[in-house]
Amino acid sequence: MSNLVVRQPEDRTVQGVDREPERPPARTAREGLPEQGHVRIVVPEQPPIDRLERTPDERRGRPCRCCAQPWMHTLHSMPEGDSIHRVAQRLQTLVGEQLEVETPHPRARVTGVASRLDGRRLLGVEAVGKNLLLRFEDGLVLRSHLRMKGRWQVLERNGESMRRGMPWLVLRGESAEAILWHGPVLELDDSGIRRLGPDILADPPDIDEMVKRMRAANQSAAIGEAVLDQRIVAGIGNMWRAEALWRAQVSPWTRIGDVPDDELRALLAEAAQLMRRSLDSGLRERAVYRQAGRPCPRCGTPITSRGQGDANRIAYWCPACQGGETPGAV
Ligand SMILES: [Zn+2]
Repeated sequence: MSNLVVRQPEDRTVQGVDREPERPPARTAREGLPEQGHVRIVVPEQPPIDRLERTPDERRGRPCRCCAQPWMHTLHSMPEGDSIHRVAQRLQTLVGEQLEVETPHPRARVTGVASRLDGRRLLGVEAVGKNLLLRFEDGLVLRSHLRMKGRWQVLERNGESMRRGMPWLVLRGESAEAILWHGPVLELDDSGIRRLGPDILADPPDIDEMVKRMRAANQSAAIGEAVLDQRIVAGIGNMWRAEALWRAQVSPWTRIGDVPDDELRALLAEAAQLMRRSLDSGLRERAVYRQAGRPCPRCGTPITSRGQGDANRIAYWCPACQGGETPGAV
């Protein structure tokens, strides 16, 4: 392969262009390409891999390659507790019914979920942090976690929008059906739930217990990592972490031990309030999340971003008005 890579620009003659209808080249390249004639070919030192990946905003509305459903920004970025609670609300329509259960996707089929649940009555659906728990008769509890790509769809039974592709799970009731796409976690076991911290969207949220768990954690860890730790508080993801820290005026880099109890409580209360408002109204207020370089709505200083923690989730913060630590020299 290496002898095919051209490091210096050179002229080559185009002798025809194959335009495959299935996979057209990027628009700018396609439009600029002559049918005949010379073109200058350069291979960059660093292949532009990032250009091959569309941003979530660019993907929005385009059909997903796996399930042919239109991409939706909020659902194809990591769902946070408010999204999961919203799904739980929509799934209530199936509660009380005996369901037909299918797991068309091969990776879901091996879980044995369909054979255990098919024909059983769904007794309840609840969101716990970022998990969805579906309680069936005979004490069976199905846990679903969407991670990055999973999503739920609730449709009229056998309605217009006949699906293409292979969903992980189909729950079919008398008049509605719920479909889980790309669901990477699907198991008949809720033991993982017992280790979770209190749900940020509980009504009311158990902030005392969250603070207690914060204090039991390593006090030299950054607060930005602690609020994403589902064993301390369940349901907060990257977006609400950034927004709650900004509202509480705490830098994500501050050590837990340097945040007094009253500030911890204020921070958790901000997260709970923002997420509750999002759940009730669908409104997602953003001051800093994905706003790097734009002015802070409070003080005008450009918002900064940087990966944080082992998972390198990107933190967004205002270096001027969010007090506490900032990362050391890079
Ligand atoms: Zn600011």
